[in-house]
Amino acid sequence: MSATKAKETLGFQTEVKQLLHLMIHSLYSNKEIFLRELISNASDAVDKLRFEALSNGALLANDSELRIRVSFDKEAKTLTIEDNGIGMSRDEVIANLGTIAKSGTADFLSKLTGDQKKDSQLIGQFGVGFYSAFIVADQVDVYTRRADLPADQAVLWSSKGEGEFDIETITKEERGSRIVLHLKETEVDFADGWRLRTIITKYSDHVGLPIELPKEQEEEGAEAAGEWEVVNRASALWTRSRSEVKEDEYKEFYKHVAHDYDDPLAWSHNRVEGKLEYTSLLYVPARAPFDLYHREAPKGLKLYVQRVFIMDQADQFLPLYLRFIKGVVDSNDLSLNVSREILQKDPVIDSMKSALTKRVLDMLEKMAKADTEDYQKFWDTFGQVLKEGPSEDFANKEKIAGLLRFASTANENDKQVVSLAQYIERMKEGQDKIYYLTGESYAQVKNSPHLEVFRKKGIEVLLLTDRIDEWLMSYLTEFDTKHFVDVARGDLDLGTLDSAEDKQAQEQEAKAKQGLIEHLKEVLNDQVEDVRVSHRLTESPAILAIGEQDLGLQMRQILAASGQAVPESKPIFEINPNHPLIEKLDVETDDERFASLAFVLFDQAALAAGNTLKDPAAYVQRLNKLLIELSA
Ligand code: ADP
Ligand code: MG
Repeated sequence: MSATKAKETLGFQTEVKQLLHLMIHSLYSNKEIFLRELISNASDAVDKLRFEALSNGALLANDSELRIRVSFDKEAKTLTIEDNGIGMSRDEVIANLGTIAKSGTADFLSKLTGDQKKDSQLIGQFGVGFYSAFIVADQVDVYTRRADLPADQAVLWSSKGEGEFDIETITKEERGSRIVLHLKETEVDFADGWRLRTIITKYSDHVGLPIELPKEQEEEGAEAAGEWEVVNRASALWTRSRSEVKEDEYKEFYKHVAHDYDDPLAWSHNRVEGKLEYTSLLYVPARAPFDLYHREAPKGLKLYVQRVFIMDQADQFLPLYLRFIKGVVDSNDLSLNVSREILQKDPVIDSMKSALTKRVLDMLEKMAKADTEDYQKFWDTFGQVLKEGPSEDFANKEKIAGLLRFASTANENDKQVVSLAQYIERMKEGQDKIYYLTGESYAQVKNSPHLEVFRKKGIEVLLLTDRIDEWLMSYLTEFDTKHFVDVARGDLDLGTLDSAEDKQAQEQEAKAKQGLIEHLKEVLNDQVEDVRVSHRLTESPAILAIGEQDLGLQMRQILAASGQAVPESKPIFEINPNHPLIEKLDVETDDERFASLAFVLFDQAALAAGNTLKDPAAYVQRLNKLLIELSA
């Protein structure tokens, strides 16, 4: 049994070593945050004890006043943070303080550059945590006993924050953890009551249980008689009324619940009364965690029932596409012994989920309206995730669509984006559709021949180049009663945007080029679905359109990448009757040259659409042959 094990020395997991190094060197300018992190852990430990005590009252034993104590010894140069929370067993200590279990950590750490400024930006994405103690301490001792283990199965973990730690079974009468920091010679100033009080009120005032410091002595020289003084407000922040909570308190509380290092972008704090009673405090982070796209990454809210902590990462309260939201929900209706299984089935959860989803969408809407810079930041960080919304949340499709942002032909570059509402506001007279084009990259779509006619007529087209976009658009059919139209798809009909003369001219051209079209069909044969005269082009000789029901390039790539069968479909080859090359083709009498030029034009159109050619060498040969003939 591990309890009988004597002292042993173990190595940190490689990732921990890297993280320790990074922590000490890049967070030095904000070193006092170590206290916030240790208090945050103590507060979590007390929350967990309270929860386990619901089913095992004996855990509270004769020590039911839950609290955190911070004390110091100027002479010994130590600072101690002590809680009477859940504590840790020997195995838990080794796992929690010797390894990092988050998936993707090694990957994340490999991105570090060694540039302290850049790396300190990255560390925020990771969360700071326990190891921040080593910013100010050159040795940390953790005395801890799990609440359900006997006194002689406590543990002492001790490390200098270099490559290894010692671990030893000890006797500890009180449950919980005592963290002793041996302050670095340069950091002994932290062993000071006034300094500690300032830091605690700055960072940890929101903590919902008392944080105590030794009571100040009345007169110089008088011994402190083991008396303690509460220095924080000690009421759960979300239970207070909105008007009472200061902005900074909201921010600090966020760092505690989200295990984040940075301020949040926005939050929404609400109390709901009536049929259901609950309080929620939801935050939009400013930065994506490094594991946003890892399937096992932690997500969900901290769940409390009547102020008692129940679980972390309760992911039943928000849809997946809002998984970046952090915060707390405190319910009066759920039972204290609610479990994940029960949450999954409880109809109460469903109505809370839809209400909380609305809250988040409203908060984002408000952000978008009030402050474009913050919203832009949000969009850059989480826009891709929000795009999963329309497929997951049918009921809020329109609301989500309103939050989406797109690059557009109306803007100079892909950093500038427009909303659908803005698009509609500046639609042309007679326009009743929202036009868009999807593709591989901004450069590709921006210069796509598909845009020629739109440019000529001054009609705005949205440019969609995220991998998920084509899939997204398969769920969005309309916004504000305006239908979406993929400009590369089907037989482009601009409706009343084309004048009667335009239409007449198109018909005449189609008639005039009938012979050429037949000839092209013969030559291109099984490569194309159809050949026709284009209404899309003003400058390019030819273009490929996608059939109305066919999958576009992105969807094909997604299917192929996931190993699925990609359904066969052929493009429609459209020609620009007024282009000199097409005119040349029309009068070409040599069959071989006709075929050569036809294939070159066809391949060029495929390239412009972002396709790769099946036989690029053949294309190059044909093109070179034509070039030589031209220069001969
Ligand atoms: P995080 O708090 O984000 O999980 P930390 O690095 O701050 O990460 O802490 C690592 C883990 O160590 C915690 O998740 C917890 O399991 C454990 N731990 C830290 N401090 C305490 C404590 N005072 N009491 C009990 N467990 C603790
Ligand atoms: Mg922590």
